[in-house]
Amino acid sequence: MELRPCVIQYIDLHHTAGHEANTAQVRQEHLNQGWGDIGYNAVIEMDGTVGMGRDIKYSGAHDPGMSPDGVHTMNQAAYAISHIGNFMQDIMSDAQFWPSVRLCAQKCKEFGIVPSKTTIRRHKDQYPTDCPGNNFPYERYVNEVIHLMKGDVMVDEGILIYGPDDFVPARRLAATLNNEVAIFMRNEQGMPPAAIKTAKHLFVIGGGEVNHPNQTILAGANWFATVAAVGKKLGY
Ligand SMILES: [Zn+2]
Repeated sequence: MELRPCVIQYIDLHHTAGHEANTAQVRQEHLNQGWGDIGYNAVIEMDGTVGMGRDIKYSGAHDPGMSPDGVHTMNQAAYAISHIGNFMQDIMSDAQFWPSVRLCAQKCKEFGIVPSKTTIRRHKDQYPTDCPGNNFPYERYVNEVIHLMKGDVMVDEGILIYGPDDFVPARRLAATLNNEVAIFMRNEQGMPPAAIKTAKHLFVIGGGEVNHPNQTILAGANWFATVAAVGKKLGY
């Protein structure tokens, strides 16, 4: 594998469009073709698992198309995120979408990339291919990365509370978490704020499941049972 001759300036989005079920299988497929390693830098599996791909110190093997800098190919200038699935037919689930958006935002931060449709590109934007598929939610994807980076709120752990009564147990729980934590509260209709999606993992204290791909419910039939569920989690 060749060492990467430049700094990473772009994100390149792909789908696998094959029979492989996970990153290990994609890697094996690429090794079978005689490549030094999997061609992508990361693979987002159907359930949202982020599979590690090729070390970024080497050029990728995913897109020989010319990057907008006019000098380097996307193999040389881009961080490649692929997605298990064929988005010519499939519709991407939120479970797969959000971990990819978060990874993309993290990589934009890491490499100093200002997110836009110029810097976050699809394979087909510079190469004759369908990849990553007509159903790939590109507009939404780029917008959400921009939104995440603007808000600069990307926390490891979120805690969603039902009402003010849940604030004390939420703070107790937060104190036990070593990661960065944000506490969110539902509105009067019981709906969570849109910002919960900025948390990698969400504890739900009180109330039922919400639309978040990675949540832990700590709730009971009433306030007391909810506090007890949190206490049990904390080992009281
Ligand atoms: Zn591709």
